[in-house]
Amino acid sequence: MVDMSFGYSLRIGYAIGLFAFLLSISKYYFVFSAFIVIIASISSLYAPIGYMYGYPNINIVISFINTDVNESLEFIKQIPSIYLIYSFILISLAIYIIKNQKYIKINNNIILFSVFIIVVISTPLSDYCKGKLSTSSFKFTLFKFSNDIISSYNQVTNFNKNLKELINNKSDWNPTPVKNDYDTYIVVIGESVRSDFMHTYGFSLNNTPYLDSINGLIFKNYISASGATQLSLSRTLALSNGKHIDFKNNIIKLAKKQGFRTYWVSNQGSFGNDDSISAMIGKQADSVTFLKKGEYNTEKYLDENLVTPYKSALLDNNYSNKKLIFIHLMGSHPDFCERVNYKYDEFFVNKKLSCYVQSIKNTDTLLSKIASYATQNNKRWTMMYFSDHGLSYQDRDGNITIEHSSSYKKNFHVPFFITSYNDKKRNEINHYRSAFDFMSLYLRWTGSTDLLINKNCDLLSDIDCGDELKIIDFNNNMKNYKNLPDDFKLSHPIPAH
Ligand SMILES: [Zn+2]
Repeated sequence: MVDMSFGYSLRIGYAIGLFAFLLSISKYYFVFSAFIVIIASISSLYAPIGYMYGYPNINIVISFINTDVNESLEFIKQIPSIYLIYSFILISLAIYIIKNQKYIKINNNIILFSVFIIVVISTPLSDYCKGKLSTSSFKFTLFKFSNDIISSYNQVTNFNKNLKELINNKSDWNPTPVKNDYDTYIVVIGESVRSDFMHTYGFSLNNTPYLDSINGLIFKNYISASGATQLSLSRTLALSNGKHIDFKNNIIKLAKKQGFRTYWVSNQGSFGNDDSISAMIGKQADSVTFLKKGEYNTEKYLDENLVTPYKSALLDNNYSNKKLIFIHLMGSHPDFCERVNYKYDEFFVNKKLSCYVQSIKNTDTLLSKIASYATQNNKRWTMMYFSDHGLSYQDRDGNITIEHSSSYKKNFHVPFFITSYNDKKRNEINHYRSAFDFMSLYLRWTGSTDLLINKNCDLLSDIDCGDELKIIDFNNNMKNYKNLPDDFKLSHPIPAH
């Protein structure tokens, strides 16, 4: 019961270990009772949380650190009363055991205690022999529980410490004023979209009616910096020569120096190892909204839910500055069907891929809403959309899917376009553009320059800017995009699309 109330599955060896330990000390009434009381109180207090949210992880720690009294009360109110029954049974059992302690007759408590010790030290001992002993080697339930709390707490405080340092660290930006005449700049950062699955880039099903209809600049060959969110965005939204990232010279610090009022609205995680970099950059904005309190895979929100905070950013009249609004989507991140609530309009190859195609369609709809709200509110707006990376084919026992990888061109060939309220023509940029030049592209878009960026080529015109198309793979190696194979070779190719 202790294992399960802490959010772990039943671990029979450790349960026997704990049982042996309690029996071995059972003749010392005070010590025995004290242990029973401590174990029963902690596990009965944690059990409802363990049942609802699992063992202590950073999401739970964040909820406790960052919530106020009201939110904590909300949290308690959300716990279904059925879960409290479990706590009630734990407490009742504890009282029963303490009351009846005198009936427990144990002669050989040394043997029992040895059983306990063997259970506790077997994994740390084997880890020690392999030379990889650490605090996480102690997997006995009570140790693991406290370890998980401490390490999650450390992750959260480290994140906050790094964020504070980053915010205090002065950047080297010294941009010229924004020349372009828009009052609202919108950057929508998409997720896991490979361009060949979009109708606008030639896909067979019509899943991008909005993108098909707009005027502006369509980049036909934009190459992301890497094949996964953090690896890619860290090198897109901050200056980077590849392996090294100059975090203090990031886009938010630049935008603030340009005089923008900055907004960051995100459906991705706000903490945690998986999300730390883009969240850390985003959290420097003047106004920050993360739908999720913890990591990207915790609470489930559709990107639709970003419309409300986006509208408040759009309607915020407290500042006269031009606005720069970032919207970070969950977009087409696996699990695709979860992104679209398991509903799709058209079938394509299998359920997974149908959901993927639909997730792109939903993003297209969202983009059209973002644009039309800005128009309705008489904004002189311009909007940029790109995906953080693509995905490549994979064959999982005959089930064709697409997954994160950094081995193929398709992991990097992503959509990118710029549109605005007053674009009159639809132009294509066919020359290659690299996410490593994103900051330069961003400066051109806002009509500003900065000495830190020495690229003089006009990335917004369809001219050859002589790029070497570097990408960084999952092993932290810099590679040339052009030398990568196109895509994973399927044994049964899917219909041409
Ligand atoms: Zn991503």
